[in-house]
Amino acid sequence: MSATVYVGLGSNEGDRESHLVAALAAISCIDAVSVLGCSSLYDTAPVGPAQPRFLNAVVALECDLTPQRLLCILQRIEQDLGRRRMQRWGPRTIDLDILLWDEEDHCVVADANLQVPHLELHKRRFALEPLAELAPDARHPVLGVTVQELLAKLAPQDVRKREALYWPDMGARFPVHEL
Ligand code: ATP
Ligand code: CA
Ligand code: CA
Repeated sequence: MSATVYVGLGSNEGDRESHLVAALAAISCIDAVSVLGCSSLYDTAPVGPAQPRFLNAVVALECDLTPQRLLCILQRIEQDLGRRRMQRWGPRTIDLDILLWDEEDHCVVADANLQVPHLELHKRRFALEPLAELAPDARHPVLGVTVQELLAKLAPQDVRKREALYWPDMGARFPVHEL
């Protein structure tokens, strides 16, 4: 059975939108994955150490892989797109995080190298705002509340929707999440 998976994309080095577009192209080439939709782009203040602003987005995927296999492929894509400095929370050409895994009986992963839902998702407006475009009613399986409800509880953060040059506008096909 396939899962609906939400992946967060971020870039704060070089031509940020090109990195997001290249990552989306690579993701769309993965066997056993199809892209259901993409959020808008968001220009966001960095969280943690001082560094350039990020460009963030979320994509919804239909995925027949295991979470570990998808993580492995996403990390390959990060490497291929020139992500060299692997220290946590440093500037990067591309960062790909698995945010939510929506599959019957299989939506929480608690491995040493992979936790889904992403452990910081509920604190991050830069992930929740684009996610809410795609799946406002998706439920966080650990906290038991929807994406929309998580957003409503969150303090304001500097997250601004931005017009795209190359990133696809797939808004008409959303939201993808079905109740
Ligand atoms: P954060 O995870 O807080 O957003 P980061 O994205 O900067 O920080 P990375 O350096 O990209 O962190 O990744 C560190 C490790 O996080 C990865 O090697 C990976 O094994 C692990 N990881 C755990 N859960 C996830 C997840 N849901 N998606 C992607 N990576 C994850
Ligand atoms: Ca991240
Ligand atoms: Ca990451």
